[in-house]
Amino acid sequence: MVLAFTNYRAVWLFQTALLLLFIQIQSSLDDSASRTNWNLAWETFPATIVQAQTIGDVTACVMDENECPTPVLAVGGMRSVTSCIVNDNGTLVDMSLMNRILSYDQNTGTVTCQAGVTLKSLHTWLLEEHNREISFSPEIGDASVGSLAVTTSKDSSVNGPGTFRSLITSLRYVSHNGTIVSLDRELDDEAFQVFLCSFGMLGIVVEVQIETREARQILTRVYARRGLSGADEAYEIMKIAREKADNVFVTVAPHEGVLVAEERYQDLSQRRFRSHILGFFKPLFISLIQRAKFYTIQHGHPFSDKSLDLRLHDLGILDTIGKQFMYFLEVDIVHYRSVFTNLYEPLTLQQERLDFTMYVYDIAENDETSQIEFIFKDTYNFAKEWHRKTGYAPKGFNIYFVNRSGNKPYGEFSGPPGVTFLMDPYENNPESIEWRTFVEALNVRQRNHRAKMSPTQSRFLTSADFQMPKELVHERFLTPHYAKFVVDS
Ligand SMILES: Cc1cc2nc3c(=O)[nH]c(=O)nc-3n(C[C@H](O)[C@H](O)[C@H](O)COP(=O)(O)OP(=O)(O)OC[C@H]3O[C@@H](n4cnc5c(N)ncnc54)[C@H](O)[C@@H]3O)c2cc1C
Repeated sequence: MVLAFTNYRAVWLFQTALLLLFIQIQSSLDDSASRTNWNLAWETFPATIVQAQTIGDVTACVMDENECPTPVLAVGGMRSVTSCIVNDNGTLVDMSLMNRILSYDQNTGTVTCQAGVTLKSLHTWLLEEHNREISFSPEIGDASVGSLAVTTSKDSSVNGPGTFRSLITSLRYVSHNGTIVSLDRELDDEAFQVFLCSFGMLGIVVEVQIETREARQILTRVYARRGLSGADEAYEIMKIAREKADNVFVTVAPHEGVLVAEERYQDLSQRRFRSHILGFFKPLFISLIQRAKFYTIQHGHPFSDKSLDLRLHDLGILDTIGKQFMYFLEVDIVHYRSVFTNLYEPLTLQQERLDFTMYVYDIAENDETSQIEFIFKDTYNFAKEWHRKTGYAPKGFNIYFVNRSGNKPYGEFSGPPGVTFLMDPYENNPESIEWRTFVEALNVRQRNHRAKMSPTQSRFLTSADFQMPKELVHERFLTPHYAKFVVDS
């Protein structure tokens, strides 16, 4: 009797365990048919979607070719604007729930994160818990550290590298056979640097260790200019801004003759007397500029989207503040850079939404002034002339100056240490045929000016615009999007 009871209990326990295992597998194999990227330009229909929560989930998936058909592609925030997130009939490994910051080492000042940690949460945690920061602080807060480690990133940073990859000291990834591989910048520099150029095609990043520094506020001077006579005047404003400041971020709309500049200074004493008086309003200025940047980036055009709440669109309050106000007044604000690192809201097809494309010029040191001047003026004039002929122009160009650390062996931002110049057009409708036609023409032109492009940040690329050496890919991970760029080493 006791034996029968025990057997019955054992069977029951066994069945319950099986059921729990089944439920767990079902919950990690998310069957929802498709996923889209943030600006809804791309939709993908993978055979399997794995919502990874542990490194074990990632290794199990990579090792199981039946449940997780080749290719296996990791994604984070799906904030990329190209078809790099597309993997129809393959396996999509969603890393966004592997979002824990694991540790901070007081001695080395390094922080270790799971791959799905977003830039915004990393910035906030470092500042609030340790009064630390990283030099890479672009407006995009939703990007995951796993993606930024192995893809392209850029920021007009102050006093430090402007690419995320340059801050990584070590990482762990899951290779094609499910092995967990550790790479360390000090110990295996060559393999480490090669892996960081792989766009995830050599393995799935699961943990990243990043160097940090003491958090310091900077001074930003923001102003706008309108009625510009042409490329010469616009370039002159940008050049003077660069000579004065430690770095600048500029937005220019050639067809409107408008330029908005952010001069960034480490030295807070550069702050002008008037702005000390206005310092009382500092939180107001910061929040207005923060919101202005948010709306411009979210919708690809300042205050344009009909869905803006609080009737901001109708009232034009922010437009007045953001544009008219800054034509007359240069605003000095002192802030941590991460205040402008935003999280962007989900969008609908009815809304205006940012699209952009990226052109990277790794400028040689002795060539800096002349090459930047040439590219700036040529692009400005091209956009203006295009507008004159067709009536179309992109909403504007974002201009970055990125401090290049000089240790990247392949692709964009490679070459010796120096400055990389970027002049990226942006648009508020990813589906626009006019936008596509413009970018395709600009791709050819900028390629001839030796621009480098990126499979995660440059739109409408052909295999002439970007090449990936074979040593950077493994077939277990190689999706059609990346496969079209692979060349013999
Ligand atoms: C509104 C907006 C503003 C932006 N501004 C900037 C900016 O100022 N500066 C800048 O640098 N970028 C900017 N970007 C681009 C964005 O930062 C990059 O595209 C970034 O890579 C997106 O990160 P993600 O986690 O969303 O990657 P996803 O889009 O999810 O993935 C992109 C690719 O990364 C790879 N990948 C992702 N996770 C992993 C992993 N764990 N292991 C291996 N490979 C992986 C895969 O190849 C994948 O296809 C902006 C994007 C938007 C939408």
